[in-house]
Amino acid sequence: MKNNLQNTTSSSDKKKIDWQIVQSVMKKNFGNDIFESWLKKIELVDVFKNYILISVSTRFIRDWITSRYLDQILQIVKEYKKEVIRIEFVIENNNNKSKKINSNDSEKNEFLKNDNISFIKDSFLQYNRIDPNKNFENFVIGPSNKLAFEASKKVSEDKAHYNPLYLYSGVGMGKTHLLNSIGLSLKEKNKVMFISAERFMYQFVKSLKSNEMVKFKEYFRNTDVLLIDDIQFMNGKEAMQEEFFHTFNALLEKNSQIIISADRPPNKLSRIQERIKSRFSGGLVVDIQNTDYDLRYKIIKSKTDELKMFYPNQVTISEEIQKFISTEVRTSVRELVGALNRIVSFSRIYNKIPTLSEVRVILKDLLSLSENKVTIDSIQTIVCKFFKISKNEMLSPRRSRYLVRPRQTAIYLAKMLTSKSLPEIGRAFSNRDHTTVIHSVKTIDKLRKEDNELNVNIDSLKNKILYSQENEI
Ligand code: ADP
Ligand code: MG
Repeated sequence: MKNNLQNTTSSSDKKKIDWQIVQSVMKKNFGNDIFESWLKKIELVDVFKNYILISVSTRFIRDWITSRYLDQILQIVKEYKKEVIRIEFVIENNNNKSKKINSNDSEKNEFLKNDNISFIKDSFLQYNRIDPNKNFENFVIGPSNKLAFEASKKVSEDKAHYNPLYLYSGVGMGKTHLLNSIGLSLKEKNKVMFISAERFMYQFVKSLKSNEMVKFKEYFRNTDVLLIDDIQFMNGKEAMQEEFFHTFNALLEKNSQIIISADRPPNKLSRIQERIKSRFSGGLVVDIQNTDYDLRYKIIKSKTDELKMFYPNQVTISEEIQKFISTEVRTSVRELVGALNRIVSFSRIYNKIPTLSEVRVILKDLLSLSENKVTIDSIQTIVCKFFKISKNEMLSPRRSRYLVRPRQTAIYLAKMLTSKSLPEIGRAFSNRDHTTVIHSVKTIDKLRKEDNELNVNIDSLKNKILYSQENEI
């Protein structure tokens, strides 16, 4: 058992994350105001294999940070320890520096009133954390997540209709958001336990060591709704799986609702007993698939509106950029939202509306995967079609006026939308010199400011180029 504990909670590598550096990046990314108001006092308590534990002084601050900044903080932490997949909080009361449940927190006290389980009480806030800002209302629905959404809604309206409900998808696609939403809507009337599989194991091992297994069992078997996030991380020894299996069955028997999330379907889970997997498959198994453009765009719209409410008059993200992010950032919703947050931070720090080329820089790492998608060839094709000239004409040496402008436009867009160097662009236009490329870029830049029609045409061309990439894939 000792080994198991070490595997799941190795805390010896705290020094692998230099918190001061993380803080300085937070300061830079979020701006001084936000940093000073919310983030400066965060302390790093411990570093585990897949998550870190941080402390803040109040529940309110924790909720505020969770709903607004946590995704980005996680991204920053990941830069220094890429295995970290989530952040856990402890509420550190300044007066006595002990973990404490806020006495105003009637709802949680209510829940705990009849329990005599001290260690679970102490750590209660750390894992049974339901984020009020991740609810059904702000979950944006598209074809890829509709079934998962509907099934989640169903179990929260009609408990134990599907039991267990098993949701799976790749990372950052909304599983935790849905589990959280179910927890939120059921917690008024039920005892809800929302726990990650890792923490379940941790708690299990801890109970075993302190001879508190009876309490552990009672505690879990008392819940009406058990939400277990990221079950793929459960890799416990026989004894633990045994206990899990029995808890699971006991809960099903008394019609408690069980909801499980994972990154793969039940039969693909490794290190989990066959009989447990088969139990997982016994209710409803639903997956969330990759987003399509329309869903990403809807999510961006909804998050932009949310941000506008938080920062009135400070958030202006042009339609062009919203479309650009929706087209480009397709790995996960988490990255999509992260991209938007980054642009908003940039815009707030520099007090300006970012341009498309600035956005390309801000999101460089997120775009790198798709860097090569926009080719000079596709730009030429689309620009030629738009101006109704042939590609031969565009690439010819002729300098007729009706050819020069489209050619300059294509060169300009090649500069804007690809990472090709000036000589490379020149070569793609029948070996023109790089000074010609510079001249074209400058000319179009200038004309865009003077000639509104041309400006609009270029925006529409840009969108065509970006969308044509989307459609081809
Ligand atoms: P997972 O648990 O699948 O890794 P999360 O639930 O943590 O993913 O989602 C990552 C981020 O994306 C969260 O901020 C979440 O609120 C947001 N998100 C995911 N899907 C949606 C959606 N359909 N609508 C709105 N926000 C979403
Ligand atoms: Mg998750």
